[in-house]
Order: sequence, then C-alpha cells, then structure tokens
Amino acid sequence: MIDFHVHQPSAGGSSARYDTRPYSAADYVAAMDELGVELSVVFTLDGLWKPSPAANDALAAWVADVPDRLVALGTVDPRGADAAAETERCLTDLGMAGMKFHPWIQAFCPHEGCMDPVAEVAAAHGKPMLFHDGTPPYSTPLQIAALARRHPGAPVVLGHGGLHDHWREAIAAVNATPNLWACLCGTPNVGMRAIAARCPADRLLFGTDAGLGSGPRQAFAAERIRELLVLPIAEELRQAIVSDNPRRLLRLPLEVGR
Ligand SMILES: [Zn+2]
Repeated sequence: MIDFHVHQPSAGGSSARYDTRPYSAADYVAAMDELGVELSVVFTLDGLWKPSPAANDALAAWVADVPDRLVALGTVDPRGADAAAETERCLTDLGMAGMKFHPWIQAFCPHEGCMDPVAEVAAAHGKPMLFHDGTPPYSTPLQIAALARRHPGAPVVLGHGGLHDHWREAIAAVNATPNLWACLCGTPNVGMRAIAARCPADRLLFGTDAGLGSGPRQAFAAERIRELLVLPIAEELRQAIVSDNPRRLLRLPLEVGR
C-alpha cells in the first residue's frame, strides 16, 4: 500500500500548531510496517505556515534517512519572487517527487496567476502538485481544477477528495479535468463510495494524513486504512487506489507477483 498523504512531524516548540513532537523517519517507517504501508508521500507541516528553502531542506533530509520507503513533496509561497526557482530546486536538486500546497493556510487562491510559473515547472517535470482541498474559500475542488485545466501537463491532486463538504464537487471536477486526481483522505465514507463509483478508476489515490498526531503511531491513520480496506468496492479498484495509481503517478515500477 502507498500512503499518498503524510506529514513530516512538526519540530514542536512555539511555532507548533499541532500536538506533535518530532520523531525520526526510521520510527515512522516502523509504524508503516505495522500498518502495511510500503511507501509514504511526505510533506511538511511547519513549512505550510512558513514556506522556506530551509523547510524543504529539512524535509529532504528527513526522507533521505529511509529513501526506499519515503518520498517528499516540497512547498513554496507562490507569491514569493523565488517560487518557480525553488520549485525547480525541489524537483531537481532535492530529488522531490512533486509539490504540496495548502491554499487555505498559505493564503492564496489556487487559480491565482502567481501559481502559473510554479505549475509550469511542475508540468515540465511531469511531477504532481497536491493541494489541500475541501475547505472554502481558497481550497475548493473547482478552484484547483481551474489551475489544472490551464496546465494539462501537470498532474494535480485533490489531497482530500473534497473532504466533508466538497466531495460532490470533487467528483464533478475530476470528471471534467483529465489531469485532476482525487486522494481519498479524511473523505467521509459516503463520499469515498461515491468517488469510487463515479470517478475514473485510474485517477484515485489514498492517504491517511498521518503526521498530525502525536508520536509515530497515530490511531486515526490505522482507522483510515481499515476503512479503505473494508470499503465495498471491487478488489481490482482497491488495488489500483493503493498501489497501481500512485506508482504510475510517481513513475515507480508496478508491483510484480502480487
Ligand atoms: Zn494533510
């Protein structure tokens, strides 16, 4: 199983917004082993409030401890003068697998013009941009789809499948936008079933949002995995969501002999 939505734990201290304490990548991988997760796609938590090259460096160093089990998505302030250059650095020098944005926290609208140079870099590399979604005013699926439609070469991921209030909009957005994907992550069960039934099977992913809890073992992550494993969908679709699709998006070889 590939978990496409995991946060590097907060460094703690006065800047911490969540009840997390730092833990090592190795400790998190031990928790992944218990959960049956082979690979996690990890993004910053602290760096969403304060995007910086240093935050990207810290994330790259964290995943580098266990490089065969963890891949990173960087982030930038899209209004910053260095946004496109730092995106390029993340995707080349730091070897990151894509970019993550949280427009609600980072205070920009996904289809603002400032995102275009960043999206052009992602498109040039064919690497995904994952967005927090499901919370207005700045993180609705159709706002994110508007950016995706301007950059058809950039895979764009709705990081929460519309969450509680926007999963119907997420279904419409994914169906209308060939380069838009949906990650089932914190999506209510009724929304997950509707997305699985109505969206293209080859553009669905799954994630836990692990990293928001305290310590490497977080009960809600285990619960979300269990919920996905018992979701009443075809086994072939479940396999696509947890393995084939994320492997294709990350350009990893498909699992053999499963
Ligand atoms: Zn998250």
